[in-house]
Order: sequence, then C-alpha cells, then structure tokens
Amino acid sequence: MIQIMPKINLLNFKNEFKDEINRITYRGYSKEPPVVVTGAYYSALNAGEIKPLPVGELSNLACPTRMDIYMGRIKKKDGKTTWGRVTGQIIDKCIHDFTKQYQNEKDSKLKVFDHLIKKSSDYLDSFVEVNKRQIGKLNKLKSTPEEDENRLIKTLDYTLRYELSMLFLQNSLTNGKANNMSINCELEIIPNCMTTGISKATPDFFIPELSIIGDIKSGVEFKRYYPLTAAGYALAYENAHNTNVDLGLIYFFPTRQRDFSLAHLHIFVIDDILRAAFFQARDKSFEIMKDKNNYPPFPENDTGCSFCKYEDDCKLLRLRLR
Ligand code: SF4
Repeated sequence: MIQIMPKINLLNFKNEFKDEINRITYRGYSKEPPVVVTGAYYSALNAGEIKPLPVGELSNLACPTRMDIYMGRIKKKDGKTTWGRVTGQIIDKCIHDFTKQYQNEKDSKLKVFDHLIKKSSDYLDSFVEVNKRQIGKLNKLKSTPEEDENRLIKTLDYTLRYELSMLFLQNSLTNGKANNMSINCELEIIPNCMTTGISKATPDFFIPELSIIGDIKSGVEFKRYYPLTAAGYALAYENAHNTNVDLGLIYFFPTRQRDFSLAHLHIFVIDDILRAAFFQARDKSFEIMKDKNNYPPFPENDTGCSFCKYEDDCKLLRLRLR
C-alpha cells in the first residue's frame, strides 16, 4: 500500500483531475435522492423491516442476481469458509500491518537490493509465524492446483519487496522531507444509516490529506464492480463528516495465478456515474430484503458460484426446486 504515495504524487491529481472532480454532484451529505433512501425502502428501514448493510456487502456484485443477499439476510446463512475468504483476510492483515510499520521509515540502506529483499523476507517470516494457524487452514480448503499457500506467501514477499522499493523512491523524490500524506488503515465511519442505508464502514485505507479512500481486493482478476466499494466508503465519509472525498483506490492482489504478478493499484475519480451505480446496487439489495417471500433467480452464468461462500446453500435450494 506504500506504493500509493509515489504514485499519487506522480499523478499530481489536484490539477490533473480538477474538472472531473468539480462535476461531482452526488455527495454523501446531500439530503436529496438518489443519495438518500426514499419511498418504501426508507419506510422499511425506519420500521426495522430491513437493515442498513455494510458497504462491502452492498457493492459486492459477484452474484449477478444478488442471491447472496437472499441467502445471507433472509435465510440467515453464514456461508462456508472458502480458500478465497481466508486468503483475503491474510492479505489484508499482512498489507495493513506492513503499511503501519513502514510507511514513515527512512532507511537509506533500501537502495541496496540485498538489504531490501532481506527486510521483506524477515518481516514475512515473522508474519507467517504469528499467523500460522490462519495460514494452516488454507491447505484443507484448496480445491484447485492454483490454490497454493506457498505460492501465496511468495507473492506476498515479492509484493512487500516492491512496496519497500516504492518507499525508497518516495523518500528519494521528496528529498528526505516528511511525507505529505499518511495512510490511515484503521478508520471507522459512522454515517446516518437510516438515510444512506449504509451501516458502520471500515475502509482498508484513507489518506485524509488528499481525500482518498479505498479497499484491498484479491482474487483471480480485477472485477469491474470493485470501484463501487470505494464509492460507498466515500459517500459514507461525506455523510458522516460533511467533507468531500474525490478519489478512490483499489489495491488489487492477484491470487490463483501461475505467474508472479505484483499487487496493482487502480486509481480513479469517484464520479457521479460510479456513485449512481452504488445507489443502484444498494437499492437492489433492499428490494431483495424487502421481498422476503420471493427469492431472486439463479444467474444464467454460474461460473462465479464455485468461488462463492453460498455455493452449498444454493445447490440445496436448486435441488429442492426441481
Ligand atoms: S452460489 Fe452462485 S447463485 Fe448462489 S449466491 Fe453464490 S454466486 Fe449467487
């Protein structure tokens, strides 16, 4: 995540994206629709018939028909533990802890590759030792040859080396001066959940100096709906603090790949198109929660089902319907 700092500085975003940012109208502090929930959903929220949901759940469009909302919120299923779920938790913890520990470090020896590689490997050895129970679960959960915990740890190691090289670059390009930003990995946002429909939000990272918010995602490939999570966090923050958040980041960590691909940073303006897509996803979730007696259709394309925590629950429902 430290790579954010030199990359954001290189983009010079305050000037480069000024026009796009000025065109944003759907701010989280607006009292008007589509920002606020209206009509039947507003009444249902306030009557306690439906609950506000976390940003991650509202914006997760992995299931195209949102059967996941039906399974989790109407049928109260927890879903099974999957390789992807545990991997995501390990990656989040490793990147968060590493960022907190090193983001302000000025280590002049980082200009030497051997030192940089040793520093990353030492950090990872200790991370693996502390988290060995969690990492040990992966072996029992894997279902394909690509789900390989040793490969995951190697990819984490290469990613941390890259992060350290970016730290060195940041320190070099700022000529050793203090960083002009800090990465907050522990923010909690409490929006007005009865008007936004969003419950307490905990983004993976927030850079207050530059009003940037974002999330870590992992998986086979970057999905087009991942930026919706950043939009949801931005709207929640604007609602809670009456302050604009303009830029979103998705730190994408590829897993289950044959090549060693380092984490990618996707940077974007959280424009009205993205914000409107988030409201649409939010309202679709509420529609499914409100219509308790009917379940949504199964998706025509079920390729995502094999990675889904509700796979077994959905199989059972399909069998019952035959
Ligand atoms: S198993 Fe498939 S249909 Fe069921 S919730 Fe997951 S993605 Fe949707």
